[in-house]
Amino acid sequence: MGEAAGDRPCVPWGIIAAGALPGRGMNRPGSGPERTSRRWQRGRRGRRWSTVKVDRRPVGATPGILDERPAGAAPGYEELLRERTSAWNAALAQLEAAADVLGLDQGMRDLLATPKRVLTVAVPVRRDDGRLEVFEGYRVHHNVTRGPAKGGIRYHPMVSLDEVKALAMWMTWKCAVVGIPFGGAKGGVVVDPATLSMVELERLTRRFAAELLPIIGPEKDIPAPDVNTDDQIMAWFMDTYSVNQGYSVPGVVTGKPLAIGGSEGRGGATSLGVMYSLFMALKERGRQPSEVSVAIQGFGKVGAGVATFLHDAGCNVVAVSDVRGGVYNRRGLNPQALGKHRRATGSSTVATFPGGDRISNEELLALHVDVLIPAALEGVIRADNVDAVQADVIVEGANGPTTPAADKVLDDRGCLVVPDVLANAGGVTVSYFEWVQDIQAYFWSEDEVNHRMRQVMERAYGQVADLAEERRLSMRQAAQVIGVGRVAEAHRTRGLFP
Ligand code: NAD
Repeated sequence: MGEAAGDRPCVPWGIIAAGALPGRGMNRPGSGPERTSRRWQRGRRGRRWSTVKVDRRPVGATPGILDERPAGAAPGYEELLRERTSAWNAALAQLEAAADVLGLDQGMRDLLATPKRVLTVAVPVRRDDGRLEVFEGYRVHHNVTRGPAKGGIRYHPMVSLDEVKALAMWMTWKCAVVGIPFGGAKGGVVVDPATLSMVELERLTRRFAAELLPIIGPEKDIPAPDVNTDDQIMAWFMDTYSVNQGYSVPGVVTGKPLAIGGSEGRGGATSLGVMYSLFMALKERGRQPSEVSVAIQGFGKVGAGVATFLHDAGCNVVAVSDVRGGVYNRRGLNPQALGKHRRATGSSTVATFPGGDRISNEELLALHVDVLIPAALEGVIRADNVDAVQADVIVEGANGPTTPAADKVLDDRGCLVVPDVLANAGGVTVSYFEWVQDIQAYFWSEDEVNHRMRQVMERAYGQVADLAEERRLSMRQAAQVIGVGRVAEAHRTRGLFP
């Protein structure tokens, strides 16, 4: 039973059938007049990049959002601007740009832009003092044409349906970019988990899982940790689902503890994948890891892991931050000492670490470093602060940290941005391995997991870089074209029901 497809066949697709794309210089939608801009281009013989002047056709119809405030703009302009630069609008703009390159018809564009399922649930929780409090939760299946829906669960006071829809869409492209057989999903609850006791957190999680029962399952939708959720929360999810089935179902979530079917290597997988992506980007630029300084925004599961891996690999990690601020030392920070400091002082922030100067998150983004790794939330590099960003390699550990307007500025400047759907895909790749191991009830060693993940990441990076070079696209545009193209091709192949 096919799901849907546009009237006209879309692009035939092999691994990424670049030759089947509308030709360079052809009259494809979104092409504008030629202009000259400064960017990096890979040399013919080697994989080094050199700065050259090239003619560059703008690709796609990414709206020129966040342009300068027009003179006499009406009151409420800023609010409108914020709305237009929401994660969901950013995701739609990226889709539109990829659809232009692929020459997708309107029906296919509408299909890919529309989430397949959106579930909003009430999550009533009995607080420890006896009060009843009701939280709002969401689960969005963006697209399941290539396999079961896959995506994290976020607990955060700023969670919104728009954000969850965007994150679900990015999951769809991410799974397609690295070639794993999942669709895209995301979920979240509007809550600040720091205000809950452990028992309240468990009640919230179990009730949320119970509300999602009709749409989750190893063949339907497999949640995982995201911001403010962890392996314990996945264990409660798995237990709630299993109790309702009457038997253990480890494959219903990934990112679980090892004791109940988790995978070796899953804890550090996203961070390790970010490191592999960075190393490939540095190779493109002919640089060694030991030569570069790195600033990392976010010191959670992804950011702290990246800091540790990069420090151990010889990079100079000069700054890290969390929601409360950051710390900077130009001679380098030791992530293990940072973690130790947090544990020893009971402090929830790295900003109080005595081994460096305290800085704000905005200051961290503007540091004079070679590499910037946003690993916190979306929308942190925007038109209003992108000019201050000095790094010439950005590897997106977080999902959606760069708005389309800022992305364009960075691309024009020649900054190499390794996009989220590629850079942080190590996590979902090992989640896929965890799901495979759970279904087979046969488990792999950590070396095997890491080795296979590295192969997946390097292959995907190579495909994206090759398409970027061939089509003169940015890495983000190329990754989007591959992801969107593979999903569109799956739709076309399955056909439309009825
Ligand atoms: P986490 O909750 O473990 O850590 C988030 C970190 O960001 C914390 O250090 C927090 O203090 C910091 N933070 C929150 N708000 C901030 C703000 N306004 N400014 C600066 N720092 C802020 O979450 P995580 O799992 O590390 O996820 C981080 C990002 O990586 C998210 O965008 C997530 O979607 C993405 N991601 C996570 C995974 C994964 O496997 N966990 C996989 C792929 C992508």
